[in-house]
Amino acid sequence: MSDRNLRLAIQKSGRLSEKCRDLLAQAGMNFEFRTDRLISRARDQALELMLVRDDDIPGFVKNQVSQLGIVGLNVLEEKLGPSHNGDNPVEIIRRLGFGRCRLSLAVPKAMAFDGISSLSGKRIATSYPRILQNYLKANEISAKVVEITGSVEVAPSIGIADLICDLVSTGATLESNGLREATVLLESEAVLVRPRQELSRAQEDLIEKLLARIDGLQKAKSSKYIMMNAPRDAVYRISQLIPGMERPTILPLMSDDSMVAIHAVASEDVFWETIEKLKEAGASSILVMPIEKIIA
Ligand code: ATP
Ligand code: ZN
Repeated sequence: MSDRNLRLAIQKSGRLSEKCRDLLAQAGMNFEFRTDRLISRARDQALELMLVRDDDIPGFVKNQVSQLGIVGLNVLEEKLGPSHNGDNPVEIIRRLGFGRCRLSLAVPKAMAFDGISSLSGKRIATSYPRILQNYLKANEISAKVVEITGSVEVAPSIGIADLICDLVSTGATLESNGLREATVLLESEAVLVRPRQELSRAQEDLIEKLLARIDGLQKAKSSKYIMMNAPRDAVYRISQLIPGMERPTILPLMSDDSMVAIHAVASEDVFWETIEKLKEAGASSILVMPIEKIIA
């Protein structure tokens, strides 16, 4: 691979795949997705996509087999250790806000749990031995870690562990196995990662361009475009009611000098309460619209 090209590794098929593809499509990176191929190239861009198992992504980025990767924070920390450690060979450059879940300890409903000291001497089944060991060590708890790769939630009922440490999102799987969540070890979401080491100029430029696009999308997602008509003398009061608004556009209205149109970007969602206050302040014909992209 030339150092003018950039490779991004994403999960081939699983919980993160679709969201990764959506994100790339929204960022204008269009790939031909073929699951029978490991690598596909973006149309007219120097970006290549690698479709792999999520477990391989941290190692690929570490070894620069790919220069970018999207992976769950849980997998990253399990494979390479704490992500906040400045010595970690892989660096998180964006948190992406999807694939949210938590790595938690869960105990059988009948088991008493009053604080982590209850874990002393217990057998804990998990697919995340490294994160769990670090947690136990940090809390000076001596417990036995039983590593299993699939269906961790059944471990207590078949008698190979007293409790488990596993991923939870809604808690439904725990519930149906007679378990309850006791403590959260890690709040996870999908993250965009790169090697900490500097890359070629062309690769660094491509990463910067991709990040600007992702930021534009993320900023847009939390923002709204708001338009309304208002009495000219209420403009100041109204502008103070719109969350996170900077410099609204004020336009004259045809055939009514006392009224203006106000257009503004609100950096947060505009709730009904705000709209009601805007009306009280004299605004009418209020429109709140989603924004697709924001480029500063
Ligand atoms: P692969 O075949 O790529 O190894 P996998 O079976 O290990 O896939 P998935 O179940 O697809 O992985 O989960 C991928 C990631 O999705 C998890 O590592 C985690 O970051 C995230 N995730 C979000 N919600 C959940 C959940 N409820 N359970 C498991 N993972 C979740
Ligand atoms: Zn996996």
